[in-house]
Amino acid sequence: MTTKSMAETEKISFKDGKIIVPNKVMIPFIEGDGTGPDITKATKKVLDAAVKAIFGGEKQIIWHEILAGEKAFNKTNSWLPEESLQIIREYKIAIKGPLTTPTGGGIRSLNVALRQIFDLYACVRPVKYFEGVPTPTKHPEKVDIVIFRENTEDVYSGIEFKSGSPEMLKLSDLLKSMGYEIRTGSGLGIKPISEFASKRLVRMAIQYAIKNKKPRVTLVHKGNIMKFTEGAFCEWGYEVSKQEFGFYTITEEDLNKKYNGVIPPGKILVNDRITDSMFQQLLIRPDEYSVIATTNLNGDYLSDACAAQVGGLGLAPGANLGDEIAIFEATHGTAPKYANQDKVNPTSMILSGVMMFEYIGWTEAAELIVNALRKTIRQKHVTYDLERQMPGATLLKTSEFADAVIKNMA
Ligand code: NAP
Repeated sequence: MTTKSMAETEKISFKDGKIIVPNKVMIPFIEGDGTGPDITKATKKVLDAAVKAIFGGEKQIIWHEILAGEKAFNKTNSWLPEESLQIIREYKIAIKGPLTTPTGGGIRSLNVALRQIFDLYACVRPVKYFEGVPTPTKHPEKVDIVIFRENTEDVYSGIEFKSGSPEMLKLSDLLKSMGYEIRTGSGLGIKPISEFASKRLVRMAIQYAIKNKKPRVTLVHKGNIMKFTEGAFCEWGYEVSKQEFGFYTITEEDLNKKYNGVIPPGKILVNDRITDSMFQQLLIRPDEYSVIATTNLNGDYLSDACAAQVGGLGLAPGANLGDEIAIFEATHGTAPKYANQDKVNPTSMILSGVMMFEYIGWTEAAELIVNALRKTIRQKHVTYDLERQMPGATLLKTSEFADAVIKNMA
């Protein structure tokens, strides 16, 4: 087989919106900076072991390293080489370790750049408890929530004006002419929220709920105060729910008037909550929520708060999804003080790999990994971050933890 035809057979493609995954699939990976190489190595080993255990030789990952971050800069003088972007574009998928945000100019954040370049409009973060993990809450097992956070708009869009800058003064004058007085010395950030981006995000969240038999989708917003951005997000969300998924969805009003407070089998309750109230709801009644669809800033805050309830970011995976491209990544950063010490917890990246397997339909391999992770944590065989909080635990290095997980696949 020629290199070209080999590459053709290894590519993910889409037909009529459905993903087609070859048995031998090429997965580009970015090793990441700091602790990235340690956790990437551990993750690849665990993912390979699960594929082998479930599929024998029938399916296989062909790993292909692509450069980004410090490694890329040192080798190519570019933080995000075009060649890496081209490979992601072609292969439609990637998994990455954390990347340092370069200081002193250039790209503001490589992670934000990747999301923008590939229009990865949904940041998806599942949050679920692993028995035995030390947590600050009494009932972490009640948390089983998937957050869909809009990834491209809101105050994160980078439209900001520095106090005293010519642009700021111009805007201030414009706003004054429209009757809005901005206090002298203010900076200004713009918060765009569009119908298009809100609807596609909520659409993806409801599709996920249908596919994964989740009973509720909650639109989280601060629309009581920011009516035309956050409030509009909520209205557009309900529109999508009604117009595109009317067969599946019911409202809170339906629930109480027609169904006596019980969601009928096969139906999904689409409701909404104001952001501040949602924070306390998630603490006191987390089991009343399953899928959350929300704007960028709300999603950022909420996903960390949810992750804290089940033991912190070290166990929180993430996926950045567009219509045909997906990048999976650990939610934590590079933890540079632990670089090359074979020390940190690879679970967040391993679970991102689990999300990747679910995305490509290799669900048995995903389940095997989750079960093995559960068993390893229950056995108290853990890395330093958990060991320091678990009396009687055995301290493992990153690579030893990966081996323990693989052993528990048997
Ligand atoms: P960080 O790298 O997430 O590290 C903060 C602390 O979190 C660590 O000191 C460690 O806590 C804990 N931690 C992180 N990863 C862990 C792991 N795998 N296992 C166990 N504990 C872990 O945050 P940061 O120090 O603020 O950021 C460092 C760099 O990462 C920055 O350049 C930032 O821009 C970048 N970053 C990248 C991404 C990404 O690529 N997606 C995301 C966030 C930040 P203890 O010290 O208590 O042990």
